[in-house]
Amino acid sequence: MTASRQPSARKSPKTPAADARTRARRSAPIHLTGLWCERAAHCAACPDRVLGACPGEAAFARALVLWQLSEGRSGLPWMVRDPYRRWVSEIMLQQTQVSVVIDYYERFIARFPSVQDLARAPEAEVLSLWSGLGYYARAANLMKAARRVAAELGGVFPEKAGGLAQLPGVGESTAAAVASFCSGEAAAIFDGNVKRVLSRVGMLQTPATSAAGTAAVRSLSQRLMDSLCSDPGEAAEAVRARNLKAAPGCETPLAGVFNQAMMDLGATLCTLRNPGCDRCPVRQWCRAAQKGAAALYPVKKPASAKKPRPHMELALAVVRDAEGGVLLTVRPADGIWPGLLCLPQLDPPAASGSRRALQLLGAMPHKLTHLDLTLSFYAVSNPPQGLASAAAPTDAGASSLQRMQAGAAGYFALDGVDGLPLPEPVKRFLKTMSPRQRRRPGAHSGA
Ligand code: SF4
Repeated sequence: MTASRQPSARKSPKTPAADARTRARRSAPIHLTGLWCERAAHCAACPDRVLGACPGEAAFARALVLWQLSEGRSGLPWMVRDPYRRWVSEIMLQQTQVSVVIDYYERFIARFPSVQDLARAPEAEVLSLWSGLGYYARAANLMKAARRVAAELGGVFPEKAGGLAQLPGVGESTAAAVASFCSGEAAAIFDGNVKRVLSRVGMLQTPATSAAGTAAVRSLSQRLMDSLCSDPGEAAEAVRARNLKAAPGCETPLAGVFNQAMMDLGATLCTLRNPGCDRCPVRQWCRAAQKGAAALYPVKKPASAKKPRPHMELALAVVRDAEGGVLLTVRPADGIWPGLLCLPQLDPPAASGSRRALQLLGAMPHKLTHLDLTLSFYAVSNPPQGLASAAAPTDAGASSLQRMQAGAAGYFALDGVDGLPLPEPVKRFLKTMSPRQRRRPGAHSGA
């Protein structure tokens, strides 16, 4: 083993996140030692253990860090030691690819360079900049968190995992990522990429999406992080050398490089289909690769254990004005797409005897994380009941955003829908309509 073995000076703060990590370390239902070492059954007595860390696990983590420094992703605009910016990027990157996020992130940070700027921002403007990223609950939580930091933390963004995990919409893995990048805290991530990598490395038999599978992956990931920090060897030197060349404020601590390595390995080599095992830096430790069984991991939940996904039908009214504009309203704060602009919703199909009389313009399926939707679009000549006053002609001088901030319904030009905070399938449907289309004479009134 390497000579530079440094005791960890960290002291766990008493926070729920830190407590959870401590529990993960103690309970460790599965550990990798048994995969790599003939002395696995006698870990406690192993003379090679350094401060409780396993040399095999440390070697694995060092290999990963060295690979990240030479082959991993670098130079992305959010790779700075600013917890606010890292947090924004981590939230955007949930469910969305790096290549898509870059433009959104740069526009967002240019408009809201600090957490105070975001805390003061009108909701409509934040949603507008988020439009197209989907999963709008993330944007709503972003605003709530920014306002809490401004109001309760004096505008100082937390940089430790315990404080980060207290913010709305920040899970413990996201908190660990931000903390490791910005403060160097040895908090390991356990997101989907890590689940895939470690399920294959250890040939874990528990479905990674189950609570037990998540606990096992979290425990393994934290053990690897702890082993690395106890015995960083040449990885510490390499990180130091890279940081000496980095622009001020863009240095990444060792713990952050390890988490970044896990993310990068899962995103670029250990992919869902056709993993690049022949180029993988941890192939020598990977049980699934050695058995040619990578495609079988992570194991899936048995089909019978899966609950059927709920389904919902959503009928939307397409009301045009004489100029070809389309009526949009702000969605309520509860339910799907809260706070976004949308076509007015018609009442449920079962209660609508008059639906048959409406002209169906189109229908499309759409998947949300928790729900399958069928969207139906109906031509309606007048605003649905209750919207008549709100849909009265709006101040011609007001911008789309000002009208939306006022929370009012109004008619919007179809050639401007790209810049509006609309649900993605609704925007897609509106883009198929002609901007010059006039209200259809003789269409029936709303349900
Ligand atoms: S060897 Fe293959 S399956 Fe194993 S971690 Fe690397 S890419 Fe994934």
